[in-house]
Amino acid sequence: MAFPQSSRYVIVGAGIHGLSTAYHLAVKLKATGRGSGEDVVVVDKGSIGAGASGIACGVVRNNYFQPAMRELMAQCVEVWESDAEAFSYHPVGYMQISPESMHEDIISIATQQRDIGYESDLIEGEADCSAYMKTIVDDWQAQGITSVLHEKKGGYSNNTKMLYGMAGKAEAEGVRIISGVEVTGFTIDSGSDAISAVETNKGNIACEEVVIAPGPWAKQFWEMLDLPRTVSIKGADGVMHDDIGMWVYWSLQEGTLGVDPNLQMTNEGKMPPVIHVDSDAPLYSDVDGSLITDQMWGIYYKPDFHFGGIQGGAAPFKVPTDPDKVAVDPYGSDSPEFIVGDEFAHMWCSALAHCQKRFEGKISVYKNEPSGGIGAFTPDSFPVLDKFRQNCTFLADSNHGYKMIGVGKLVAEELCGEPSSLLRPFRFSRYAEGELHPVSNSPFPWS
Ligand SMILES: Cc1cc2nc3c(=O)[nH]c(=O)nc-3n(C[C@H](O)[C@H](O)[C@H](O)COP(=O)(O)OP(=O)(O)OC[C@H]3O[C@@H](n4cnc5c(N)ncnc54)[C@H](O)[C@@H]3O)c2cc1C
Repeated sequence: MAFPQSSRYVIVGAGIHGLSTAYHLAVKLKATGRGSGEDVVVVDKGSIGAGASGIACGVVRNNYFQPAMRELMAQCVEVWESDAEAFSYHPVGYMQISPESMHEDIISIATQQRDIGYESDLIEGEADCSAYMKTIVDDWQAQGITSVLHEKKGGYSNNTKMLYGMAGKAEAEGVRIISGVEVTGFTIDSGSDAISAVETNKGNIACEEVVIAPGPWAKQFWEMLDLPRTVSIKGADGVMHDDIGMWVYWSLQEGTLGVDPNLQMTNEGKMPPVIHVDSDAPLYSDVDGSLITDQMWGIYYKPDFHFGGIQGGAAPFKVPTDPDKVAVDPYGSDSPEFIVGDEFAHMWCSALAHCQKRFEGKISVYKNEPSGGIGAFTPDSFPVLDKFRQNCTFLADSNHGYKMIGVGKLVAEELCGEPSSLLRPFRFSRYAEGELHPVSNSPFPWS
């Protein structure tokens, strides 16, 4: 097919947000008599899943301290459940397992989950938590845990299967997805300030609306649109903090223990929930007994037949390099700079052994293959999902996003004239207005 010279809707990025927006927009256009998937083109400089969505661990959870995130995630879980097969979604549940320093935060999450009808059990107290965990996996041995929040919904999804499932649904609605098309800029109409065309290495595509779903490339697109490099943020104290850089990169630490995934089945022989543990108990090496850390640490893990073992990760670290100098490309496992090393393997495998006896002595089968990747984070580490230049929806998910499959549905509704109250808390103006999300005691920047 010839390269399109125009399309009413141009979506940039064939990751989860671009593809979800494309599919839901096609459905919505048809349902409202405004058009169809034939009005939608998705372009990607690589291919489907070339970005963060293609390497994500795929965990889907509601567990957020921020009410707006929780409400949005509840909507996202509904979308996951709407076609679990196409989205390769495994609704095994999710457990947030925490020390006393996070106890109050977890009570607040559990209470608010009850308020929005999101099913979860809260177990409190060290003895009860230990006993509860042993009813699921009898070798549980983590120390110092005083709350377990067991979300009955959520779980995980296999990343590339999901992306091709979503792409297939979009294409069945008439959407065109074109790989190998690099967006190089935008033509801005001087009168209206709107984007009139998306400029690419294959030619310009005239358009009425643009959706940018850039993942870790958010900073590059932000600059193409001449959006502010720094922001002023009104703090909780009412004081304005100026000159805060808009983007910072964090390096995500993930890997796979090369054991049979069946090793982590529950006492009943079923797939277990995704387990996330935060702890302030001293963490000792499973290799030589030396102290790895006496500071707060956190890990998550799940048996995964797609990754071929026990897959998971640990808390990420902020990339110290000036964001202007960070090389996003080559991305993911192709990056020589941002793949995890021996230190991660040592910490993560020792932490697995701290939690469950079955993982003791298993570091020797850690899969020594490139994994991990970077994410572009906003100043408060929460998504900026907003419209700029009249007709450009920018979906900067601040690396929260594989689980956020429902954002594309909400964006599609907004493009068809139905504003979303769920998206409102993620507008860019929240920084200047001081309408910030509350901050939790978790060691992760995304909880
Ligand atoms: C290691 C890791 C594990 C993660 N695990 C989880 C998890 O368990 N759960 C969770 O919810 N989230 C997770 N995340 C976060 C999640 O993966 C991202 O937030 C989400 O995938 C971003 O989706 P996206 O569609 O915005 O971007 P992406 O999937 O990154 O897609 C962006 C696309 O834009 C394309 N592109 C870039 N520049 C151009 C250009 N100039 N022209 C055309 N196309 C371009 C890229 O090729 C890419 O395909 C993880 C992230 C990482 C890195």
